[in-house]
Amino acid sequence: MKIHVERIPASGLEATFEVPYTEFEVLREMAQAGDCVFLSPVVTSFKAIRVRDVVEVKGRVHFSVRLNCSRCLNEFETVLKNDFAVAFVREIPEPQTTAGEIALKDEDMGLIAFFGDQIDLHESVQEQAVMAFPIQFLCRPDCRGLCPKCGADLNQGDCTCEKSTGHPAFSVLKNFKSVQ
Ligand SMILES: [Zn+2]
Ligand SMILES: [Zn+2]
Repeated sequence: MKIHVERIPASGLEATFEVPYTEFEVLREMAQAGDCVFLSPVVTSFKAIRVRDVVEVKGRVHFSVRLNCSRCLNEFETVLKNDFAVAFVREIPEPQTTAGEIALKDEDMGLIAFFGDQIDLHESVQEQAVMAFPIQFLCRPDCRGLCPKCGADLNQGDCTCEKSTGHPAFSVLKNFKSVQ
């Protein structure tokens, strides 16, 4: 996933990379941990525009996964995508400055350093792919989840449990009675 800086035309370079998820360490770990199943390669479509030693890359990362819904626990398949814009700046190595100081300086400016004639998108694409995951996995926005009492999938219809209403103390009392 490398861009040859000198080959970026004045009008910009448009390209698409398709890379198996196994090439990304963090995604491999997520799959191994059972958090998700990747159903497609990680596809990155982007446009790179170069102005002297700064290269701006704008694009979209997308891929298909199978996840487990956080509410109803059912498996579902979805396409995750994330739009991004990152800027790379060519660093001229300065012998008197340590690499750490250079990195800190660029981070402050929101720029990613590159050296020589190539930009490697690997780290950026991995970061974007991880950020494409939602905080909560939902099979659909209005998933009703499972009944906390009987565990029935409420998407399949209402269960026979009484809906808990009112003060929590009353439902505790109700449960106490039904146990007797
Ligand atoms: Zn669900
Ligand atoms: Zn129920």
